[in-house]
Amino acid sequence: MVWRAPARSMDDNSRTNKEKEELDRAIALSLAEDLKRPKGYRWRTDQDEDLARSLQDNSNSSSYPPKYAPSYAPWEYNPNSYRKCSGCNKDIVSGNYLGCMGTFFHPECFLCRACGVPITEYEFSLSGNNTYHKSCFKEMTHPKCEVCHQFIPTNGAGLIEYRCHPFWSQKYCPAHENDNTKRCCSCERLESRNARYMSLGDGRSLCLECMESAIMDTGDCQPLYHSIRDYYEGMNMKIDQQVPMLLVERHALNEAIEGEKHGLHHMPETRGLCLSEEQTVTSILRRPKIGGRGLIGIRTHPQKLIRRCEVTAILVIYGLPRLLTGAILAHELMHAWLRLKGYRNLTPEVEEGICQVLSHMWLESEVVPGSRNMPSTSTASSSSTWSSSKKGGTSQAESKLGEFFMHQIAHDASPAYGGGFRAAYAAVNKYGLRSTLDHIRLTGNFPL
Ligand SMILES: [Zn+2]
Ligand SMILES: [Zn+2]
Ligand SMILES: [Zn+2]
Ligand SMILES: [Zn+2]
Ligand SMILES: [Zn+2]
Repeated sequence: MVWRAPARSMDDNSRTNKEKEELDRAIALSLAEDLKRPKGYRWRTDQDEDLARSLQDNSNSSSYPPKYAPSYAPWEYNPNSYRKCSGCNKDIVSGNYLGCMGTFFHPECFLCRACGVPITEYEFSLSGNNTYHKSCFKEMTHPKCEVCHQFIPTNGAGLIEYRCHPFWSQKYCPAHENDNTKRCCSCERLESRNARYMSLGDGRSLCLECMESAIMDTGDCQPLYHSIRDYYEGMNMKIDQQVPMLLVERHALNEAIEGEKHGLHHMPETRGLCLSEEQTVTSILRRPKIGGRGLIGIRTHPQKLIRRCEVTAILVIYGLPRLLTGAILAHELMHAWLRLKGYRNLTPEVEEGICQVLSHMWLESEVVPGSRNMPSTSTASSSSTWSSSKKGGTSQAESKLGEFFMHQIAHDASPAYGGGFRAAYAAVNKYGLRSTLDHIRLTGNFPL
């Protein structure tokens, strides 16, 4: 009956795969980097300094070959051949020149592909035919941590090892998983050192992008609640009863769960609840203000909820962005719909699964352009009064956030929410929502 934060183990799973992929790439990269600067490509080292100097100086070329010529031949040397600078395409007439793999350069023409400045260092990096300062090449190719903005360090095995979020592809040092770096309670991204997250005062933190559309009090949430009820009505699933909806603090939500006879207390993080017992619930009357890095001045109000039908109220945790709050409301409203329509004794997999499908469908209608038409099973959509309550539409950042919430629902590892969603989603895609619901009513299970 509750919406809780999706279990992250499947994320971890896919992250492991992605990570492995990334790690393979990182290994390949560091190997490639080694290959790109074999000893033969160095201009000079202590041992061959004399050689290099003699080769760079045309007038001194008669001293070649030196006594201790290395076994490899970094500089092709042929005093009788005609030399053209590969940088400026002009002849190299006299003075210093550099040679590498059969090509020659004026020293001022041997440029770093990245910064355009001549390379004067002994060692440089080569990628294809392009030459780079070692530092420029590292800057270009070595992954940087998106939390501390440093190069991601190599691990004990000398490999670049990092974590990567499966949806956002945020790359970061593994250390940030355990160094109290804040994670946004809504989008899971880690706090970057140059962006400050907002503390919600109950152990949760919110990134500024999620904060942008966060819903902070019960009044704030009413238009969204009504638009989602309209969404149900548009699918010919009108909820006639006036079920109150309250935005609540984290502890108030947890207390309400304790007060429910059939609450699922073991869930790690609960975000919404479809209440069926009579309770007094403390709701948020006035939104808190931003003070420093946290929120202050929240005003709450105890509210006695009277049971008039199968459903007493819908509770949602405060402080989440509009699309996540809406996804939770869509989920809880489906619980309400099932109860009010007399669906009884469904397994958690079936009930949570179908509720997640409605949540996913609503998100899709918000973020996917052109998906606003009603599901094909709806027969009364033409007479629908459903319309979007949104003004202006969804910003690109908000759409991306919506896609993330859909991804989270689809990849949830828990058997009831994740497994249930995937089974329900397959059934709805095959038979349509209406037939799937009819089948559930008759058999208690999804049609196969
Ligand atoms: Zn639920
Ligand atoms: Zn040149
Ligand atoms: Zn450079
Ligand atoms: Zn880092
Ligand atoms: Zn966020």
